[in-house]
This record gives sequence, structure tokens and C-alpha cells, in this order.
Amino acid sequence: MHYDATARLKRCLRSPPGLLKPSATIDLVHLLSGVRPVIRTEIQTPYNADDVTRWLSRLGCYTCLDNEGFIVVALKPGLCRRVLAIDRDPSEHTKAFGLALGYPNCCVRAAARVGEASIDAWAAQMASRAYVGSFKAIDPSGYLAGKSAISHVPCSPRCQQSLTMARQAVHGPFGECLHRKARQNLVRSGVRV
Ligand SMILES: [Zn+2]
Repeated sequence: MHYDATARLKRCLRSPPGLLKPSATIDLVHLLSGVRPVIRTEIQTPYNADDVTRWLSRLGCYTCLDNEGFIVVALKPGLCRRVLAIDRDPSEHTKAFGLALGYPNCCVRAAARVGEASIDAWAAQMASRAYVGSFKAIDPSGYLAGKSAISHVPCSPRCQQSLTMARQAVHGPFGECLHRKARQNLVRSGVRV
């Protein structure tokens, strides 16, 4: 990507509309850095979807919005529609949805074993575990506040695939747009992907 284009996107990323959750920045850094092909986030109510979709189009993104405020964002329009269709599928779709969103296989398998109905309890349990050294970067407890480097629940506090994803996001072209807390453990280590 041309330097000027990257700089412009960084400026845009740093001034999101207030209706997006802080965690949306993590997802967007993944998307724009090519770490994941498609993301889903939520517009807070009362929402003005037009403001958000206009801002995302300035980032070069296509969007598909459902009627509950969830928005699927990708750099290819067809991908948004496919992922929204998986999300709407009334049958069990945890695995298909997680894989479509580009999460690591091991973490998707773990989420599918837990099942969608119990995912929040599992996420809380994983957030209470100890994350040591570089693995602090995959601690999901800071996700909602936008202070994590990944946006899924890792299958373990030592998940290598999640750590690789966090490193790609932190050391990629938009890593500096992540919250300082999401970057500090990997930036300090100096280890690149
Ligand atoms: Zn994993």
C-alpha cells in the first residue's frame, strides 16, 4: 500500500464515529492489515448506521448491516453477504462463522465444543486465566475496552496461533492504531512475525 494511503487510513482509524465500540478498532486493524478477511462489530444504540457506513467506506470497506445493529465489514462486498448469511443461519454455526471470520482453527474448534449458548461463560473463564509474558497480548479481558490485540477467545492462555495473529496486528502497518495496552507486551519484546 502506498505510504500516503496508509497514513490517510491511520488518521481515519484514529477518529472513529462514537457509535462504534472501542473493540471495533482491533477488528479494523486486523481487516486493513490483512490479518483477517472479514470482521463483525456492533453499532451502539441509538445508532445512525449511515454515519458508520460512510466512515467505513472512507477506509475502503464494504458493509452489511443486520437489523440488530451488527455490522459485517470486508474489503470485498460479496464476502460481507456470505458471512451475514452464515450468522443468520438458524442451525448451529459457531464453527463455520468463526472460520469465516478468520479466527485460528484451534480456537474455533474450542468455541464449537463449548457451543454458542455457553460462549459468554467460557469467555469469562478464559479472561480470568493467567497470561504470561508475550501471551499477555492475547488476554481477552481487555477486548471490550479495545485494549486487546485479538478479538476472539483464545483456546488456551498459550495459544500460539492467537499469539501469531496478535503479532501480525501489532507489527503490521496499522499496529500503532491499537491501544497502547494491546501493543506494549509485543512491542517491548521486539519479536517480529
Ligand atoms: Zn487457539
